[in-house]
Amino acid sequence: MIASEQLIPSEVTILGSVFDVRIVKCADDACGESDAPMREIKIDPHFPYDTQVETFYHEVIHIMLEQTGLSKILTEAQDEQFAQALGVALAQLISSNLHLPG
Ligand SMILES: [Zn+2]
Repeated sequence: MIASEQLIPSEVTILGSVFDVRIVKCADDACGESDAPMREIKIDPHFPYDTQVETFYHEVIHIMLEQTGLSKILTEAQDEQFAQALGVALAQLISSNLHLPG
């Protein structure tokens, strides 16, 4: 079995840019935050670990939408819906397929 701690890396490369992943309290009861210009993702440790993993991928999707320019053609609500749906999908895809050979 793979340790669940391995599901959230301390840094992640997204479209060629390295982002620091910090496990810290987030503002306004959010479970995560991302700052593309600062190359930073924050995950709040006060949530269940499964939620933290989904939040990590949610923030990764937000950054991908911004880095690809897709966020410019989406409303704020649509951007959030994409991040929510695809973040959960990506978290489940990766956690369900860790057994695949790398
Ligand atoms: Zn979001």
